[in-house]
Amino acid sequence: MVEVNEAQSTEVFSSFNEITKMGHEQVVYCYDEPTGLKAIIAIHNTVLGPALGGTRMWSYASDQDALIDVLRLSRGMTYKAAISGLNLGGGKAVIIGDAKQLKNEAFLRRFGRFVDSLSGRYITAEDMNMSTADMVQLSYETDYVMGLPESMNGSGDPSPVTAYGVYMGMKATVNKAYGIDSLQGKKISVQGVGQVGHYLVDYLIKEGAIVTVADINESNIKRVTDKHDVTVVNPEMIYDVDADIYAPCAMGATINDNTISRIKANVIVGAANNQLKDEVKHGDMLKQKGIFYAPDFLVNAGGIINIFPELMGNYHKELALQQTEKIYDKCTEILNKAENEDKTSHKAALEIADKRIADMGKVKLAY
Ligand code: NAD
Repeated sequence: MVEVNEAQSTEVFSSFNEITKMGHEQVVYCYDEPTGLKAIIAIHNTVLGPALGGTRMWSYASDQDALIDVLRLSRGMTYKAAISGLNLGGGKAVIIGDAKQLKNEAFLRRFGRFVDSLSGRYITAEDMNMSTADMVQLSYETDYVMGLPESMNGSGDPSPVTAYGVYMGMKATVNKAYGIDSLQGKKISVQGVGQVGHYLVDYLIKEGAIVTVADINESNIKRVTDKHDVTVVNPEMIYDVDADIYAPCAMGATINDNTISRIKANVIVGAANNQLKDEVKHGDMLKQKGIFYAPDFLVNAGGIINIFPELMGNYHKELALQQTEKIYDKCTEILNKAENEDKTSHKAALEIADKRIADMGKVKLAY
């Protein structure tokens, strides 16, 4: 038996405090020595339905960083499903480590078994560094995986639909800021041109926007520059770009003490989850600066909207896109509510999501 020293036990207990504070129902640490798998599955809230959210694989600087990421992401999924009118709870998984080095068939299938052990309380899908092909491997071990290829009656890669939802949210927010929803001639900086970002750039260019991109991955940059006339800047410079709109489509927490003063845009709409490092403080700072911010969990809901009918066994891409288009109206409603009630758009969106969860919780109490 390995002894646990005082410092270690304090760390465990402070993690429990964090989990309690954020209101999670269940957090599971998954470890498998033979494959090297280390993962955390977090189930935030299942009032509306089973917790659904993708699996992200990332080389976290520390286990603590991984835990914080999965706690924040799973909470975001609760609100994303709630505000989108879906009967789903919020959950998420993170796998700790370098996808290029660790991912193989046994590794993925072992993770599938961990997902299966939760008997459907958590349903997974893809997120950063996980692909549709990886979901197929998981499906050999569990039924609780979505985002399978369309050839397997799945909904396929959610990214194009997520990008469409972000595009809709961007047009709605631009309409609020400028009184017209056209992106023609708008200067837009896109941080991260991965799965979602590069599809978003397609929409922006098609509408005549002037686009600047940054990414740490050269081949993802090339995929965009091969197709479109865009300006490329060093990833660190993206906050300093002269832009009307900033679209964060890489990692979370990019809106923070260090970046808000540098951001020139007066509209922020992007795909990344948890864009505000501190939801209250940085939401307030954006409001004070007069920046129109579209809540991330609302505008990046296209992916989960796309997956939901797959879960119901009734997937049609056209219908998923029609549902995603409604993000435009929802975004307008939230920005108006924020203005009328003099609060941040993030808080306005949270209130709507919280109310739906509370109302449905009461419905479920009826026998
Ligand atoms: P991805 O991994 O395909 O793309 C992310 C891109 O960001 C990559 O090209 C990566 O190299 C780049 N990147 C990472 N760090 C960077 C940095 N510091 N500066 C600039 N670029 C950087 O992931 P994705 O599927 O496109 O998702 C993007 C974001 O949107 C994530 O936060 C994800 O959680 C969120 N999201 C994705 C979906 C979806 O359907 N894929 C749905 C909802 C939310």
